[in-house]
Amino acid sequence: MYKTHTCGELRLAHVGKTVTLAGWVHRRRDLGGVTFIDLRDRFGLVQIVTNSATAPVAHQLIADVRIEWVIQVVGEVNPRPEGAVNPNLSTGEIEVDAREVKVLNSAKTPPFYINKDEEVDENTRLHYRYLDLRRDKMRQNLELRHRVVKFIRDYLDERGFIEVETPILFKTTPEGARDYLVPSRVHPGQFYALPQSPQQLKQMLMVGGIERYFQIARCFRDEDQRGDRQPEFTQLDLEMSFVEREDVMSLVEEMFTKMVAAIVPHKHVLAKPWPRLTYLEAMSRFGKDNPDIRFGLELKDITDLVSASGFKVFESVVANGGSVRGLNAKGLGDYSRTQIDELAEEVKKYGAKGLAYLAISPNNDQRSSFSKYLTAETLNAVLERLEAQPGDLLLFVADQPAIVFEALGRLRVLLGERLGLPDADELGFCWVVDFPFVNWNPEEDRWDPSHHLFTAPMPEDLPLLDADPGKARGQQYDLVLNNYEVGGGSIRIHNRQLQEKVFKLIGLDAEVARQRFGHMLEAFEYGTPPHGGIAPGIDRICMILANEPNIREVIAFPKNQVARDVMADAPSPVEAMQLKELHIKIDQ
Ligand code: ASP
Repeated sequence: MYKTHTCGELRLAHVGKTVTLAGWVHRRRDLGGVTFIDLRDRFGLVQIVTNSATAPVAHQLIADVRIEWVIQVVGEVNPRPEGAVNPNLSTGEIEVDAREVKVLNSAKTPPFYINKDEEVDENTRLHYRYLDLRRDKMRQNLELRHRVVKFIRDYLDERGFIEVETPILFKTTPEGARDYLVPSRVHPGQFYALPQSPQQLKQMLMVGGIERYFQIARCFRDEDQRGDRQPEFTQLDLEMSFVEREDVMSLVEEMFTKMVAAIVPHKHVLAKPWPRLTYLEAMSRFGKDNPDIRFGLELKDITDLVSASGFKVFESVVANGGSVRGLNAKGLGDYSRTQIDELAEEVKKYGAKGLAYLAISPNNDQRSSFSKYLTAETLNAVLERLEAQPGDLLLFVADQPAIVFEALGRLRVLLGERLGLPDADELGFCWVVDFPFVNWNPEEDRWDPSHHLFTAPMPEDLPLLDADPGKARGQQYDLVLNNYEVGGGSIRIHNRQLQEKVFKLIGLDAEVARQRFGHMLEAFEYGTPPHGGIAPGIDRICMILANEPNIREVIAFPKNQVARDVMADAPSPVEAMQLKELHIKIDQ
């Protein structure tokens, strides 16, 4: 038997027992006749002592071991002498007096410290991920992730859901990204597509009468990498029959609220029930459809106040159908011109032409790029709308609404962080609903689904599909948490005619639709129940619960920012023979 106990479990109650432990040498201190080792396994640390007088052989062996060697120790649990108790360690009241030591394996000196929580270059961490995983933080993150997934499985199981696996080798299941394709050896020139989500498959399960499905599902999307994206990622994919959107939303809301209480009790859910914002409200208050609701700095519309204000810049934007909105960066009224110019550079990244400002010093002196053009009355109305007080900095963008929202939405997040407003232990869950059903895609001159092809329009907006598609709303709901979209779902179309109508609306040729989605259209003719679902992203949720800045920190073996696995070095070239079998020629 390699071990009778784990390194983390020994307490005063074990004193006098002979135990066998196995793990890694975490730290060692050599005091001549006595050597101390901190022995580590996944469950904790325990102090091992060897004494040259009482156990000379074990002591000699311990003299040779180095950090990260794997050893086995047989010894007796003793209370630590007074003054040597370590209150920061769960095993800090005892130590194990080693009688026998066996080296199970040696180790090269690791390229970074495993026993210290210090910054290590990420590429090095990913190259030696197996060593990185030995570090406390990664272990804790994987344990947290495990608990999250286990909580979900138990919660849904208790509510009649069953977990069903769906194929990875499938056909294109678009979610707006590029597909990963897998060539077929047996069908020359043909390809499987890795699912961007199990969307069609879970709908097929509803046609199949499963009623309540979930899966911890891997999704594959070939898109540019960001901190919150990976080529493959994991969703809690779920689907239910005979539901309306409120049914799905309240199930998910209750699940995550209970999960937070069970798994991260030091965090708290900001508002219960979670706020439900319409898309238009989210945009007008926060400038984005994935708002961080943990802090204010909300956007204010002053278009009506400045449309005939005498300030030409504002006036002409409004005359061209644009809007003027601003926010009040409370307490930043002493920002210098250079600091304000820096903020202007920020908003220019998102298409804004500039940033109008009005800075109010604590003793009420005003500096402004535009106020001299306004009448006292208009200026007062603007100050009032932004609830301005001495010491505040008011910032405005005038442009087409999409640019105004993007620029101010990003600026709000940046200023919120700068002002230390979001509390990392607060979880600002909210729902965003009533999204437009379709968005106009000017490059391709057609409508794009704002969610995906299978989302149903709001029943009362059905006539708008013919009359004015841009005004129709979809039965979509987005799950938002602290500035991230952490999930999206919808009530689906379950009728062939409507599905065909939507394919047509978004410019999908009938023949192409039949080739790609004929199986769904066909299935819809065999008694498809009304159904809907959602897919919260496990990686993003774990990232937020673990206070990590990116999802790579909660994935055991992530790809780097250019989609490479740097440990195994993938992707990599393959043998000419393999390509030949796959009927593939590389066009260099
Ligand atoms: N398949 C969708 C997605 O991946 C989620 C859903 O509609 O259930 O975003």
